[in-house]
Amino acid sequence: MARKSGRSYGPMTYLVLGGRDVVDQHGFVNPPIVRGSTVLSPTVADLTSGSGRYTYGRRGSPTYESLTEALQELEGGAHVALTPSGLSAVTTALLSVLGSGDHLLMVDSTYQPTRHLCDTLLRRLGIETTYYDPLIGAQIADLIRPETKAVFVESPGSLTFEIQDVPAIAGAAHARGAAVVMDNTWATPLLFKAHDHGVDLSLTAGTKYLGGHADLLIGTISANESYAPALKAAHGAMGIHVGPEDIFLALRGLRTLGVRLAHQQEAGLRVARWLNSRPEVARVMHPALETDPGHALWKRDFEGASSLFGVELAPGSRAAVAAFLDGLELFGLGYSWGGFESLAIPYDAGRIRTASRWAPEGPTIRIHIGLEEVEDLLADLEAGLARYTSTA
Ligand SMILES: *Cc1c(COP(=O)(O)O)cnc(C)c1O
Repeated sequence: MARKSGRSYGPMTYLVLGGRDVVDQHGFVNPPIVRGSTVLSPTVADLTSGSGRYTYGRRGSPTYESLTEALQELEGGAHVALTPSGLSAVTTALLSVLGSGDHLLMVDSTYQPTRHLCDTLLRRLGIETTYYDPLIGAQIADLIRPETKAVFVESPGSLTFEIQDVPAIAGAAHARGAAVVMDNTWATPLLFKAHDHGVDLSLTAGTKYLGGHADLLIGTISANESYAPALKAAHGAMGIHVGPEDIFLALRGLRTLGVRLAHQQEAGLRVARWLNSRPEVARVMHPALETDPGHALWKRDFEGASSLFGVELAPGSRAAVAAFLDGLELFGLGYSWGGFESLAIPYDAGRIRTASRWAPEGPTIRIHIGLEEVEDLLADLEAGLARYTSTA
């Protein structure tokens, strides 16, 4: 968007301005939803030269570009691509840099469907995966082989919330010519500047905080200068397309991403601190808590926290966990997160690990804090903890 003064602005202002050109939009505040496959050319010469701004729906549209332009300012990379879901962003990013005979280092605390991708499709394509301890840091160097083409990080870890030393891992990977791919869904590009910390390809499930309303699925991938050509090539070859209505919803989410995250960070921390002080709770896994083992790294590298965290309860039965969660009035029981509503799920993350141990003594639940009144959420949780203690 044209800036009359040439001044640069803070990220919250970019969220409002990004991807909008009101002159192009006939004065309307928001970009239009442009649907379409065929793009017409005035002459054969124009058609065959492919010189028009748009050539075919799959190759880009004004709606698509309004979101990629806005995200590019936020990510600070060289190219942004959109995919129909967060998981397809993982697949697309990995297939941008990996081929038959290559080796991938994957963090043991990754999102479970990412693990499934590695163990099934990537294996069938001749790509070998080695899982590594999320706390490995610079020692990842010992696991890098000549054929290692990518190191995948996710910080904090899905479900278990370990903070990784991304700059140290990136330093070791780059020294051996491997790409660093990151799942940055938890922090979003607003709270973790992935490229500034050495990440080459940073992806998010925009389904979560970007969408923010539990009404769409979308994925985003940002590449730095070195990996932009690889991302463009893989994304184009696979024919990936996202419908303009979903892009429009993501753009609408983008405008309020900053205020939602600021509110959810505060509300999430209040709930996390309250839970941490309760006798029914063994520990809270939230890197912004001073007691969290990842706190120092989080403070060094992140600009803030989102509102998703883990809770280990004091030992109790499955029936007690069910009594706690089933009776909650304000927390929905469901997958995904990042919307305006609070959520809770029970989980067992130790089961699928192969490179690191994760064996809490009590049951674990994941909490997402939405936009409700914090006092109401605390009262709901307090009643739940009472049910937990009184159920055998
Ligand atoms: C939800 C999620 C994904 C996948 O996103 P979908 O849009 O559901 O495919 C990927 N990574 C993380 C960390 C997630 O939480």
